[in-house]
Amino acid sequence: MTNMTSSRGSGPRLLLASSNLGKLAELRRLVPPEVTVLGLGDVPPYPPLPECGATFEENALIKARQAARESGILALADDSGLEVDALNGMPGVLSARWCGRHGDDVANNELLLGQLADVPDERRGAAFVSAVALVNPAGHADVVRGRWPGRLIRESRGSNGFGYDPLFVPAESDADGTGRTSAELAPERKNELSHRARAMAAILPAVLSRLGLGG
Ligand code: IMP
Repeated sequence: MTNMTSSRGSGPRLLLASSNLGKLAELRRLVPPEVTVLGLGDVPPYPPLPECGATFEENALIKARQAARESGILALADDSGLEVDALNGMPGVLSARWCGRHGDDVANNELLLGQLADVPDERRGAAFVSAVALVNPAGHADVVRGRWPGRLIRESRGSNGFGYDPLFVPAESDADGTGRTSAELAPERKNELSHRARAMAAILPAVLSRLGLGG
């Protein structure tokens, strides 16, 4: 164990296989205060395996298994993306690199808008999906999925969030009459509703159980 991790106390520990501070903060809000939530910046570095799974679940498991093996700590990992009805569920696991380059949100959105240009409003359904995997150092795995349904509009709106958020109107925004995209929602509101929040809520009982905190 490194000084970095041991200095955080001897209570229950959970490693999130991510360096994303927003995801870490969300997880810390979900778990009981006695749980020390660590990120990848808190453990000795290791080279990440390629995310070559055919499903969100496989990719989340690749990340969580590696994190648990490398750190010896109960590990949680997520993988997410957008499933578009008119594209038979694509971009799916290719969401981050749909335009051919990894992480170019503007180009991904432009390509998607072009592909859907002739798709009528009633067939523009889509959902954000998040799979979350929990793996303990012995290799026991749990995996869950969260889904956030909505529809895709024809032009970008809003500047919060990231990725496909400016194109995605969640079902809640149609239900309340605002029609806001997930990039127009307050970040706290998106964090309450999102696919990741749903998946994290679904995995929480397994996390508590593995940490010996009930559930
Ligand atoms: P990751 O699993 O968080 O790395 O997300 C993979 C890709 O899916 C991102 O690069 C985005 O293109 C898309 N994506 C996942 N979650 C969201 C979201 O909440 N809003 C917008 N795009 C998302």
